[in-house]
Amino acid sequence: MLRTVSCSASLSSSSLFFRFFRQLPRSYLSLSSSPGRNLRRISSPSAAGRRLLLRRGLRIPSAAGRGVNGQFSRFSVRAVATQPAPSYPDVGQDEADKLGFEKVSEEFISECKSKATLFRHKKTGCEVMSVSNEDENKVFGIVLRTPPKDSTGIPHILEHSVLCGSRKYPLKEPFVELLKGSLHTFLNAFTYPDRTCYPVASTNTKDFYNLVDVYLDAVFFPKCVDDVHTFQQEGWHYELNDPSEDISYKGVVFNEMKGVYSQPDNILGRIAQQASDPKDIPKLTFEEFKDFHRKYYHPSNARIWFYGDDDPVHRLRVLSEYLDMFEASPSRDSSKIEFQKLFSEPVRIVEKYPAGRDGDLKKKNMLCVNWLLSEKPLDLQTQLALGFLDHLMLGTPASPLRKILLESGLGEALVSSGMSDELLQPQFSVGMKGVSEENVPKVEELIMNTLKKLAEEGFDNDAVEASMNTIEFSLRENNTGSFPRGLSLMLQSIAKWIYDMDPFEPLKYTEPLKALKARIAEEGSKAVFSPLIEQYILNNSHRVTIEMQPDPEKASQEEAEEKNILEKVKASMTEEDLAELARATEELRLKQETPDPPEALRCVPSLNLSDIPKEPTYVPTEVGDINGVKVLRHDLFTNDIVYAEVVFDMGSLKHELLPLVPLFCQSLLEMGTKDLTFVQLNQLIGRKTGGISVYPLTSSVRGKDEPCSKFVVRGKSMAGRAEDLFNLMNCLLQEVQFTDQQRFKQFVSQSIARMENRLRGSGHGVAAARMDAMLNVAGWMSEQMGGLSYLEFLHTLEKKVDEDWEGISSSLEEIRRSLLARNGCIVNMTADGKSLTNIEKSVEKFLDLLPENPSGGLVTWDGRLPLRNEAIVIPTQVNYVGKAGNIYSTGYELDGSAYVISKQISNTWLWDRVRVSGGAYGGFCDFDSHSGVFSFLSYRDPNLLKTLDIYDGTGDFLRGLDVDQETLTKAIIGTIGDVDSYQLPDAKGYSSLMRHLLGVTDEERQRKREEILTTSLKDFKDFAEAIDVVRDRGVAVAVASAEDIDAANNARSNFFEVKKAL
Ligand SMILES: [Zn+2]
Repeated sequence: MLRTVSCSASLSSSSLFFRFFRQLPRSYLSLSSSPGRNLRRISSPSAAGRRLLLRRGLRIPSAAGRGVNGQFSRFSVRAVATQPAPSYPDVGQDEADKLGFEKVSEEFISECKSKATLFRHKKTGCEVMSVSNEDENKVFGIVLRTPPKDSTGIPHILEHSVLCGSRKYPLKEPFVELLKGSLHTFLNAFTYPDRTCYPVASTNTKDFYNLVDVYLDAVFFPKCVDDVHTFQQEGWHYELNDPSEDISYKGVVFNEMKGVYSQPDNILGRIAQQASDPKDIPKLTFEEFKDFHRKYYHPSNARIWFYGDDDPVHRLRVLSEYLDMFEASPSRDSSKIEFQKLFSEPVRIVEKYPAGRDGDLKKKNMLCVNWLLSEKPLDLQTQLALGFLDHLMLGTPASPLRKILLESGLGEALVSSGMSDELLQPQFSVGMKGVSEENVPKVEELIMNTLKKLAEEGFDNDAVEASMNTIEFSLRENNTGSFPRGLSLMLQSIAKWIYDMDPFEPLKYTEPLKALKARIAEEGSKAVFSPLIEQYILNNSHRVTIEMQPDPEKASQEEAEEKNILEKVKASMTEEDLAELARATEELRLKQETPDPPEALRCVPSLNLSDIPKEPTYVPTEVGDINGVKVLRHDLFTNDIVYAEVVFDMGSLKHELLPLVPLFCQSLLEMGTKDLTFVQLNQLIGRKTGGISVYPLTSSVRGKDEPCSKFVVRGKSMAGRAEDLFNLMNCLLQEVQFTDQQRFKQFVSQSIARMENRLRGSGHGVAAARMDAMLNVAGWMSEQMGGLSYLEFLHTLEKKVDEDWEGISSSLEEIRRSLLARNGCIVNMTADGKSLTNIEKSVEKFLDLLPENPSGGLVTWDGRLPLRNEAIVIPTQVNYVGKAGNIYSTGYELDGSAYVISKQISNTWLWDRVRVSGGAYGGFCDFDSHSGVFSFLSYRDPNLLKTLDIYDGTGDFLRGLDVDQETLTKAIIGTIGDVDSYQLPDAKGYSSLMRHLLGVTDEERQRKREEILTTSLKDFKDFAEAIDVVRDRGVAVAVASAEDIDAANNARSNFFEVKKAL
């Protein structure tokens, strides 16, 4: 994918019937739950990090992927309609005809209460799905079939490049202008192994059509095919600043992919998918790149999606302007994806991956078994049944395949496990990482034996019922989190449509689900699932086993190889060549650093300030109490679902127990009670509710020394089952026993694996947490529960589990006693008014059962890490570089303009310097208005000190800035777009709770909004003075390679304290 970092982020919700039900209770860790996010949604990788990474069909959950949305959401399709089809504006055959389209078919789809019409553009054959309904969050997407011919990454580089200027919008990056100045609720692009998607979404109709026009022009008429500079910038080029220096490779995709493959899990995926390799990117020529665009970016090879409450005739009118300019092309035939024949024999692959020198290398092997399931299309019911099977085997901690593998102690955690059906041929994978060499064959054996056993014995009825309820709940709730519903539907539809199959079919699940339920009821679940395991997995000879071995030499070897190639390139050049290369490098840099002229910027359509609502969106909130406990009620339409949060104070928790809290949360959900095993308890939650989660939450509170530190229990259920929901919450909190030493040991090793993954894949998050922990108490608390300190704690704890389990178990009990109390607790509920009244009794009962007060007196939170510049060493080819300081310490008082300014710094100064000319995949800043901490961060960055220098130049950049009114207006609108982000009802209720906890009132929000809307150039200058504190008194933390850290410390007399992490 494109810019908001984290490439090809495609939500798992794009999957039709696989995977999407994976969401059962699981504690999520603290770092991703910074409550300030909803108030300062500055586009950053941490948001994108919550999505899933998709490269060549393989989905790799990011380390931070335990956020609220990932947890609480998924899938798409809306509840079954019970009322007759409403009528939506129609496009008559004559009207379509006049605009050059023919109507192919039309259906009312009750699952998403939408009327969907498939059109074909007569001249080019371009197909258009036009979906009309009442959803104001409108979605447009254009999808092209782009089969790669080699491993040079052409489709991905093209995906980036087409958004760098076009015929009507001839500026450097219209995409960035849209990011800065539109109200988009979604704006991005992704590359799949065989397709490239360009989606946008907005709730504002005028804004929506602005986005649509920029995207259409970009796809069909990009400048990049005539401009080698874009190819060099986004793809690759040789960089030589001075003929006496070494040549290096630069390029955004080049670095992006290097970063992706610094993570062993992703290397595993690359092998499984035979995906492109960053090493091969420099083989790509500009000619091949242009050819690829000519061939596949053509209306005949395009599928276009419109969704929402806008006028369907207008959609066709906008499209015809573009499509009519083309003649039919044979590209549709030449891009056809053919079924691959299944192997007749299993295959085994052994590969090395780069690992650090420290730690026990013997225990770092990975093994994964993959099956390609079919060489023919599967019918919807079989797909649904396979998705169901996936959930039964792996979907929850209680699912047998997951449970048996984790309990075996053969490895630390699962890797890339589950069904995936986004490509032509579905696949199933399961594997483990953190495996010792001698256990590698045992893991494979255990996987095969467990699958055999499941085929022979089937699943127990409670498990089947729990999966069924979870699936039905997901379908009814259709909670796609911050991902637009219409986009989720598009990705499902396209997964068939792209292969010339029926685009309507994937949207209609009611009948196949009913049929599947009936079959299970009649024949029993074994008769349904056992043959599937046998046919598609056990008796399927297309099995690819991949084993990965750690190699401490590999990273430096790869670096040496690259250096070697570059030295040869340099040696083959004459003096004139070198002078020319240095000149070309300089030319590219100059071009990158020269801002677009105002008239070019003006051509990107934008809203006016008058189009912007003057008031923030208010969430109906009634503050009351039940038996002395504060209760917040949000009366919103939720399709008969109740969302509830119970918040406890952490004010009585002893400091030394803090790092145990995440494991305490996991233990609550995965240990069981005196009467129920954890499997039974888990199934009960699955059968009765839509899920329960527990997690700690910390944030600074503006103007206060004491941080907000809470423990949250979050759950949802159908309104009629609210009593069950609260009973189960009570059961988890009060009855779970901390007695299972073996399970606890697994939790520890899983957490270590997750933290290590986080260091490699989201090093910027680890760096940010580290700086926060030096600068404020809430940050310190959070780092204790999810940062590098937490990883260090886990390593100590790993030994302690064997030596002093009694001690740990009683510490867990002590945490429970310190947290659970009716006094100081807050209940938050979101549902319609009638349900809110109906559930009161259940809440009352729940509260009555709580102890009155916590054990132990109030503690004062005052921990901080020592202020110092730190470099954290990991085996990597790209770095994460951060620097932060507290701007409130300069006397700066929060003004709404700060949001506009920090967004502008990210989108201009850092974007141009850190990303475009620095070659990093991302560079951005983050301002926490609660603590006052302003941080700069880079992502997959080839540089280190150079990036810090750029950060230090921010104050001067602001002082020298000359923003005209138009630029300012755009920045203001973009900021309002962030503040007004589209929210589903559960998210509205949750945001309101967060505001309540952090003392943010509606009056303050209104004032903040007015300050945003009236931001002036003077605010920028004033802010420059405040931000200098980061340069002068800030701390720097980098997560980087040993080589780069050494070089930095040599160049700048031991600037960094060095810390080894992996
Ligand atoms: Zn990308």
